[in-house]
Amino acid sequence: MAEEKKFEGDGLTRREVMARTAWAGLGVTAGLLGSGGLEKLLGQMQPRVDESSPRIFGASVEQLPPIDNRYPVMPSWNTELKQLAPNVYAYQQEGGTGHINAGISNAGLFVGEDSMLVFDALGYPVQSKDFISAAKKAGGGKPITNLINSHHHGDHVAGNQFFLPAQIASHPYCRQEVLKAIPNTPASWPKVEGQADGTEVRKLAPPVVTFEDNLVYNIGGNTVEFRFVGPAHTWGDMVAYLPQHKILFAADLAFFHLVPYCHNAYISKWMESIDKVMKMDVDVIVPGHGPVGGKKDLAESAEYFLFLKTQVKKRYDAKMSPGAAAADIKMGKYDNWMGPERLLMNTVRLYDEFKGTLTPDIDVEGTKQAIVEYNSIKAGKKS
Ligand SMILES: [Zn+2]
Repeated sequence: MAEEKKFEGDGLTRREVMARTAWAGLGVTAGLLGSGGLEKLLGQMQPRVDESSPRIFGASVEQLPPIDNRYPVMPSWNTELKQLAPNVYAYQQEGGTGHINAGISNAGLFVGEDSMLVFDALGYPVQSKDFISAAKKAGGGKPITNLINSHHHGDHVAGNQFFLPAQIASHPYCRQEVLKAIPNTPASWPKVEGQADGTEVRKLAPPVVTFEDNLVYNIGGNTVEFRFVGPAHTWGDMVAYLPQHKILFAADLAFFHLVPYCHNAYISKWMESIDKVMKMDVDVIVPGHGPVGGKKDLAESAEYFLFLKTQVKKRYDAKMSPGAAAADIKMGKYDNWMGPERLLMNTVRLYDEFKGTLTPDIDVEGTKQAIVEYNSIKAGKKS
């Protein structure tokens, strides 16, 4: 097997880094799970406490593409509450080179005269509590009275319980999916450094208010417009737009320096939604994952999708299976982003689109088959 290239900074290969992680300890491969096993695992994972596909399949994608030194190494970024305008903050969580969990998400904070509004709850107790304490400090201890969930994924809603009694609102699809996930939510949070101390009772709190589009808050001298941009990353995507400041909290419409996570996505519509945002009067974009950026970063996601779709379509037209297509595609500079194994799920979603079988739900069976096939092709290529 060719020697894997090293991550800059810590001298670890991607495989070594992966080996250190909790999910590698799961010892889960699609092959080992056998019939029905993956569905069971997915059921246990709902809602996913993070969006890192390794957490679900990743130990299963056995050969990650190596870092490609012909292209820039991704930057790294810190966890911080960034003030973007008066009473407007982005809570950016760490990631990039030296980090391995691609499921670490961001949130927004809008401070009012007597209360505060939050956009997304993050995915683990420690993250949510750290965010809340930073928010209280910035807002002079005012209560958080309202929380909007951008969509139903665990890394955006699993922390909802820590914001109660705030009123939680979302798109109806998001509420529906959170309600579905409640019976499968474990009763506790396992102790993991930086995520949970192992003592928190776990209770998934659903949005109680729903809105289809354009919910406007006038708060702290700012107009904050929550707009529907789906179906894109999911069928319930909301973003927050502040026209006065040309700021967009794009949630998971935007992944910067990360491969977009597409298990529930409608990729072609997502590309259209990105095009619409590119035409909006926006200077600053807060992504759902990655550092605060702008249109230049979002354009890179658009390029990624266009490149991927073109590559996948060629192989679909040539009647290759999704697993063989993913094993054959070379993503080049995008392999240096976090979450390169997402190529598998993203390829499967595009095949579902082309076949006309796409639904809002994860294509569990299709993804599982693709991973098994991808692994066997990659294993056969080992020297
Ligand atoms: Zn998401």
